[in-house]
Amino acid sequence: MAEKALIEDIVFAVVEGGALVPYAEVMKENGTAGYVRIANLTTLLKNDIRIGDYVQLDGLMKITNTLKHLRQIDAHLPWIPVDCPCCGHEMLIEHSRTLVIRCVNDGCLKE
Ligand SMILES: [Zn+2]
Repeated sequence: MAEKALIEDIVFAVVEGGALVPYAEVMKENGTAGYVRIANLTTLLKNDIRIGDYVQLDGLMKITNTLKHLRQIDAHLPWIPVDCPCCGHEMLIEHSRTLVIRCVNDGCLKE
């Protein structure tokens, strides 16, 4: 069942392997808040998902559609962190099939 939700914020977390992954902090129409993992930065940028946007979620809390016709003038992209949000180490941009920003600290997530 599809549900409409408002993206209140987009935050970043580091996952196994050091890759930076965006999460949308959403408020559903029924008043339930939650986090939705966005696959990667390419998905975020290609689908132009912004803070303040209304999106459609499927039953698995996955964004299936951005409701661009409901976009407000103050909808904006998140700041993409330069330093690792987990350990503070600098991160490197990898240009592969998808855009990946990765923490290069081997000890990250273990600290
Ligand atoms: Zn790190």
